[in-house]
Amino acid sequence: MSVDIIKFELLNKNVLSILWSDSHLSYILTKDLRNSCPCATCRTAKKGFKKSLPILPSESYNIINSERVGKYALQFKWEDGHRTGIFSYVLLKKLCTCIECQN
Ligand SMILES: [Zn+2]
Ligand SMILES: [Zn+2]
Repeated sequence: MSVDIIKFELLNKNVLSILWSDSHLSYILTKDLRNSCPCATCRTAKKGFKKSLPILPSESYNIINSERVGKYALQFKWEDGHRTGIFSYVLLKKLCTCIECQN
């Protein structure tokens, strides 16, 4: 059974909410999203920094556009122009900060 996204919206500049078809409501920090960007560029950058993440300017954490990619992912455009990361539903669920998912 695959879960779809009913709707998603930026609540403010730091938090994205996602309502899933299983009625789970996720709150995801845009900072966590950007730090988990799955694109090759970000993955390589993170490897270079080993344990600590590269420090990005604050505009790098602002989402200016978001769109669906098929029925499996979301893609975000960030204020610094970055937009190559495809965030699969699986990854998005991992980043959920609700109490249920944290346990
Ligand atoms: Zn990236
Ligand atoms: Zn959750």
